[in-house]
Parts: sequence; C-alpha cells; structure tokens
Amino acid sequence: MEQVIAHILAELKKVDGPPDGSSLEVVLRVGALAVHSEAATRQAYEVLVQGTALAQSRLNLTIEPVTLTCVKCGYQGPLPEGAVDPHDLSPLVECPQCGAVSPVQGGRGVSGIELRWE
Ligand SMILES: [Zn+2]
Repeated sequence: MEQVIAHILAELKKVDGPPDGSSLEVVLRVGALAVHSEAATRQAYEVLVQGTALAQSRLNLTIEPVTLTCVKCGYQGPLPEGAVDPHDLSPLVECPQCGAVSPVQGGRGVSGIELRWE
C-alpha cells in the first residue's frame, strides 16, 4: 500500500497546477489476495495519506476477486473472501461444483491506479 501511495504522489507531482486535494479521486483496483480486506485497505490509505497532497482525496476502491476455473468440469466463478490463503503462492481450492482441486487465478497485486479530479 505504501508503494501505491508513493506512486500516486509521484504522479501528482508531474501534474501542472495540481488540483485541490478535496477534488481528487483515487481509483484503485487491487487483487483480493494482495490485501487483507477492503476495510483494512481503506484504513491503511487513510493513515498513509495524512499530511500528503492526498489527505483530502476520495478513495474509489475495487477489490478484484480471486476466481476459480475448474480444469475438470469447467466451472468458473469468483471465490468468497477467505477461501484462499494469501500467503500460499500457488493456492489450490476445491471446485464447488465437482470437488476437483484446481488452481485459482487472479487476485494478486495492484491491477490499476488512476487519478481523477474535476
Ligand atoms: Zn469442477
């Protein structure tokens, strides 16, 4: 999260006539495995932006779900929060449809950072 804030602040410095903090919207897309929870991510953001140009900004946060694509039956769908251990580098889960063990996809890292203002 710290790298994300640092990145946004660096981007903001490149802008001519930086906008007022309160009109800033930070659009962030992160994988579910990259964060503990949406609430924790928002909290971290609030803390990290204090005293920066982003202090008054709004965070538009999207958590990208981890998805399962079953190799056996072809089932495809998002997994509920907590279904996968984020510390597991190649997590496997049981398919809810046929029970076969399949690798999960997605949910890692930051997939998008965007800065918007009016
Ligand atoms: Zn299956």
